[in-house]
Amino acid sequence: MKKFRADLHVHTVLSPCADLEMSPDKIVKQALKRGIDILAITDHNSTKQCEIVKKHAEGTGLLVVNGCEINSQEEVHAICLFEDDYTRNKFQHFLDHYLPTIPNRPEYHGHQVVVDRNNQITEYYPNYLGNPLMIDLETIEKFTHQINGLFIPAHIDRPINSLYSQFGYLATDLKVDGMQLSKYADETSIRNQYDIHSDISLITASDAHYLEDVGSSATSFYLFEPTFNEIRWALNQKNGRFVKIEP
Ligand SMILES: [Zn+2]
Ligand SMILES: [Zn+2]
Repeated sequence: MKKFRADLHVHTVLSPCADLEMSPDKIVKQALKRGIDILAITDHNSTKQCEIVKKHAEGTGLLVVNGCEINSQEEVHAICLFEDDYTRNKFQHFLDHYLPTIPNRPEYHGHQVVVDRNNQITEYYPNYLGNPLMIDLETIEKFTHQINGLFIPAHIDRPINSLYSQFGYLATDLKVDGMQLSKYADETSIRNQYDIHSDISLITASDAHYLEDVGSSATSFYLFEPTFNEIRWALNQKNGRFVKIEP
């Protein structure tokens, strides 16, 4: 078993609130510089920048995972991860269907751009990605799992946009593959505060919106090899794989 450092919550230029320096090539370079082995790209309500980040990582040894940070109807943020482009596309259709058609106003929210391999803008995403989707958290979780994805409520310790700030508890019907703490949260105190049993894995991640933050917080994944399926096993504490929050 080997240790792999994973930062599973990183935004790109596509997120309205992220810095325009967050281009796919620079994100990959920064992750490698920080010793990250597994990186998930998780823009708000979109997966459209994942593919180019993966292309930049080819041959570098960095595993880039397709992801998204959804904002549910109840304004809960969660990380959804997908194994391949087929399931990522399926999820993108789901997002396109449930994102309100309210145009982005760059002067208030910032730009939402998709860039190609050469950092040329190929799309200005028209609708504001920061809005809540018109669909509830549980339905998003069920759909994510139906297409074999992973579902991880984001920054659960935060006083806004978190599972506990919006619901106050983890419903038994909601199937999570783990939960993410924000960068400075302490695992033991959060477990005690919300009575989170040890069979639910907790991870930490950078939630980077600026380049210098990529890889600034990461979780150790103990795997034989870095694959999506082993990440799934580690989060769900199966077949000897596990995760550990450690410096
Ligand atoms: Zn968030
Ligand atoms: Zn985020």
